[in-house]
Amino acid sequence: MAEVAETVPVGSEGVTWNLSDLYINLDDPQIERDTQDASGRAKYFEEKYRGKINSEEITPALLIEAVQELESISEQIGKLLSYAYLVFAADTSNPKHGAFLQEVQEKATQIRKHLMFFELEWIALPDDMANRVLEDQTVSLYRHFLEHERRYKPHRLSEPEEKILDEKANTGSRAFSRLFDEVINNIRFKVKLDGKIKHLTETETLALLYDPDRNKRKAAAEGLTKGLKDNAHVLNYIFNILVQDHSTNDRLRSFPYPMASRHLDNEINKVTVDTLMTSCEKNYHMVEKYYNLKKRLLGIKRFRDYDRYAPIFSEKNTISYKEGKEIILEAFRYFSPRMSEIAEEFFEKDWVDAEVRKGKRGGAFSHSTVPSVHPYVFINYTGKLRDVMTLAHELGHGIHQYLSRKQGYFQCHTPLTTAETASVFGEILVFHKLKESEKDPKSRLSLLCSKLEDIFATVFRQVVLTRFEEKLHQARITEGELTPKRINELWIEANEPMFGSSVKLTEDYGWWWMYIPHFIHSPFYCYAYSFGELLVLALYNKYLKEGDAFVSRYIELLSSGGSDAPEKLLARVGVDITDPNFWQGGLDLLREMVEEAVELADKFAEQKSN
Ligand SMILES: [Zn+2]
Repeated sequence: MAEVAETVPVGSEGVTWNLSDLYINLDDPQIERDTQDASGRAKYFEEKYRGKINSEEITPALLIEAVQELESISEQIGKLLSYAYLVFAADTSNPKHGAFLQEVQEKATQIRKHLMFFELEWIALPDDMANRVLEDQTVSLYRHFLEHERRYKPHRLSEPEEKILDEKANTGSRAFSRLFDEVINNIRFKVKLDGKIKHLTETETLALLYDPDRNKRKAAAEGLTKGLKDNAHVLNYIFNILVQDHSTNDRLRSFPYPMASRHLDNEINKVTVDTLMTSCEKNYHMVEKYYNLKKRLLGIKRFRDYDRYAPIFSEKNTISYKEGKEIILEAFRYFSPRMSEIAEEFFEKDWVDAEVRKGKRGGAFSHSTVPSVHPYVFINYTGKLRDVMTLAHELGHGIHQYLSRKQGYFQCHTPLTTAETASVFGEILVFHKLKESEKDPKSRLSLLCSKLEDIFATVFRQVVLTRFEEKLHQARITEGELTPKRINELWIEANEPMFGSSVKLTEDYGWWWMYIPHFIHSPFYCYAYSFGELLVLALYNKYLKEGDAFVSRYIELLSSGGSDAPEKLLARVGVDITDPNFWQGGLDLLREMVEEAVELADKFAEQKSN
């Protein structure tokens, strides 16, 4: 839901995007022409190539001709879908927009039906024949795309088996996932505020954990625990079933261990993920040090889990859209003029929709659209520091998408692990720019603490979550069905090492694994967050050491999009992600930030006592 607050003008009013580079408006006759054209081409594609891909007749020339035509049709559909999606996001309240999106999606599904055989035939083609074709120079431009599709081959079952598994999942794993959402969304957490019991949703309850009033945070924590405990019977059962389902799939599809299928999706190998995780774990003492500082700043002797998100300082004045834009452009320019030039293009050519208005979707994103057009950035800018960071984040994505267009529709997108590189990098440039221009120790400290807490949540907490999941899947395999009490133990076991002595985890906290949706909807997803954030810190550390030499390689990295596996693309910029020293470089930067926070806090304390 879009959050439309009555706010004072912040300069983003009237800043809306111009989508005419896609289509003029909903009545643009080109929409119908493109739909018809894509549909006709897809049918012809099927007639021409069905039966020819998984066949003795396959040649490099035939394959490449087919891939290029497939890419071109896919881009044509992609353009229609992008336009429908952006129009809808800009004003969800107009029923015409929802209907248009629905219509385009349905037509796209119909068109894609004619194209699906290609992937199936390509995967089914025997290895020796596929390799012969892949070795040929003519397919080099699409090699990564083609190889990537085939990596799932050892884990695919026969077509009838796949069909049965897929159909039965609707009443199996997918049904349990939906049941989880329904249970969680229907709980009304009883939270005692100002002497009265309030019945709050999960979102409302969790938001109270950020409240400056400790009593409210405590009440929210108690309410959350009680609500989860009351539903523990069904939630615990859902967890057990889905973990077991995961393990059955692994057995049927020959995945050697629970995380293997996720690594395959992420195009990353086990050694790299292990290196990343152990590097983080070796640095948990930073988290402990930071929370000890926070404890001191807040003046809380017995720091509990519900104090973790308490704000240290209240936020300063608003930052106008124009100011925010200037801060970002300057930070980008300082790093690379090319980067700020591209960002400026977004502002000058109206590729940004920034105002807050009724009917507009909430949140922020950068949509790549299609390589023949350009990305669009979407944000609800309300003048908070957080908004400046978000704008920098989305523009980072935008620049990445802008540069990687030259890889074409099939290879411009990166996997999850590197998808957040440019966005987080953009944020870090702006963060350092802001911090340097801030002279007042209190404001500097405030900025630093909020950045550190953000980074901890993305780097260390996600490693904790992943370790918990590993323990959970392992325990289910060796111990059979697990009780909530047993899972609580595993949860606390995974969390305690990170906080050390700084935070006392209450018994209540033991129940808090139960509401985390990633465990249910996308097992082992969380390490990708740590990977992305720490990758950027390590890259930034490299930049500090190498200066300008790094900048051009970084731009090159963004331009290469998803044309190869992350490990290989990063190797080209001189980064070895299997090397613990690379990750430690990023962690060292983080340690310096913690130390700076401690120093600033001392200065601030001195100032106060004078
Ligand atoms: Zn992002």
